[in-house]
Amino acid sequence: MRVLIVEDEKDMAEVLKEGLEEEDYFVSLAFDGLSGLEVARSCEFDVIVLDVMLPKLDGFEVARRLRNRGNRTPILMLTARDTVPDVVKGLDLGADDYLTKPFSFAVLLARLRAASRRQYAQPTSLLRVADLVVNRATREVFRAKREINLTATEFRLLEFLMRRPGVVVSRNAIVEAVWGFDDEVNDNTVDAFIRLVRRKVDDPHEEKLIKTVRGAGYTLRA
Ligand code: CA
Repeated sequence: MRVLIVEDEKDMAEVLKEGLEEEDYFVSLAFDGLSGLEVARSCEFDVIVLDVMLPKLDGFEVARRLRNRGNRTPILMLTARDTVPDVVKGLDLGADDYLTKPFSFAVLLARLRAASRRQYAQPTSLLRVADLVVNRATREVFRAKREINLTATEFRLLEFLMRRPGVVVSRNAIVEAVWGFDDEVNDNTVDAFIRLVRRKVDDPHEEKLIKTVRGAGYTLRA
């Protein structure tokens, strides 16, 4: 597995590189946002580990530019700022996952494995609830024949709900399904992502499909 680490704290970048190489990863390093972007564009990677606070170009901007150019490589953001708005901003710009500093190496490895599993999982079926259609193979989402663009995390959240129409799912179950195991994602993160998905899927339509079940969680049904 090929990993690009974009991190301006050189000591930390080198330590991560050594650790990952011991786990048989191939690791490239970049120490600022601009060179990170260049390396990401010139080589194929399985995962990009992207620090938020970077010289020249911050991690948010790097993620945005990569996604605008059609680069779909999973991005794991590293952030020291663990507030939900920052995290949501990163995820909304196209990052797939995030890790708050300081983190343990074991957690980083788990997240990298999860990111590559998600990239190579190729489900094929269409999911449909009312006029909402999710194509799990092409990752396209349509509501009333209008295409909806979701970030990777928003897509996993919607897909999880679509696979269980009418079933009330707890926030814990959502965390586990969408982020893998996690000790940092919390209920507020789930609620923030539900808001993001609702804004795209439900807000433009009279019929709301994603419903809050007070004290229990969420459900998606017509
Ligand atoms: Ca930094």
